[in-house]
Amino acid sequence: MSKIFTDFNIGNSLPELCRKLFTEQKRNWPQLALACEGLAATRLREIDCGYRVFLQHNPQRAVNSGAALDAESIRNRPCFLCAANQPEEQRGILYRNEYLILCNPAPVFPGHLTIVHVNHQPQLLTDSIMPLLHLARDLAPDYCVFYNGPACGASAPDHLHFQAIPVNSLPVENLPDKYLGEAGEYSAVKIIRGVNLDRALVIMESANPEALRRQLLILMAKATSLAGVVKEPKLNVIAIQEKLISRLIIFFRSKHRPDAFFQEDDGRIFVSPGSVDMGGFIITPRENDFQRLAGDDIRKIYREVSVTPDLLNKILEARGADNGFSQRHY
Ligand SMILES: [Zn+2]
Repeated sequence: MSKIFTDFNIGNSLPELCRKLFTEQKRNWPQLALACEGLAATRLREIDCGYRVFLQHNPQRAVNSGAALDAESIRNRPCFLCAANQPEEQRGILYRNEYLILCNPAPVFPGHLTIVHVNHQPQLLTDSIMPLLHLARDLAPDYCVFYNGPACGASAPDHLHFQAIPVNSLPVENLPDKYLGEAGEYSAVKIIRGVNLDRALVIMESANPEALRRQLLILMAKATSLAGVVKEPKLNVIAIQEKLISRLIIFFRSKHRPDAFFQEDDGRIFVSPGSVDMGGFIITPRENDFQRLAGDDIRKIYREVSVTPDLLNKILEARGADNGFSQRHY
């Protein structure tokens, strides 16, 4: 039976199609209907870390947060994003013949989507920046779209995918000026560094998606060489389209999970940060963590899983290294 609910055609409203998909899937896929009820019962707690952070107690995310991500475990399990292994009732919107837009069966927000490539190929951003920007544009103004690197929160690092959640769900989407540091314009891309956030956060904005893609690739190449890795640096990227402006919020990471995640005693903190968590919305599948985590714990986790300010300086030195180099500070 076909996995395709409908095909996205240019001129259609993609957010409208996604709403219809959710309505249909909740009616015909009991597991999703239950998960949406579970989401409505999650609890939220705001924590002041010097910046805003929310904790969401969401027991349904235990499988995702606890997923074994070592190469052997990945090799030995059926890929849950491949169409052949998806739940029988699951359907999706075919997007530009390349991606299938699906309802996320363990939602963190209402309308949470998983957007999977139709082929089983590794999670790698280098060749997928334009699809990420196109998705953000086609899902605007309702959704932002994000990418979790294969070593930074993706629970299927072997299958290229994005996720989408309602816009303005994450505190980092609306940072007050005091958290926005040094800014400059480089080859038609405005680049802003986040400050006082305990995270290595960079915001890039442009009306020219191709220029944005080039600048992201430049920063990624620098981060790759500094980290001494082959493919891509550890990162999370959130894409948002605001009228004509494409915006990327990038987190450069040093590791996926904090050391406390692997502790076997009471010190264990079951937090497994991806884009949503880095964006200021931390998922705590366990009640214990939800109750006890305080501002200092969160700040420590953020610092531990982010590259150091010094390393971020070095990554940002690569800005503007492009044909047609131009630099204007303001
Ligand atoms: Zn797959």
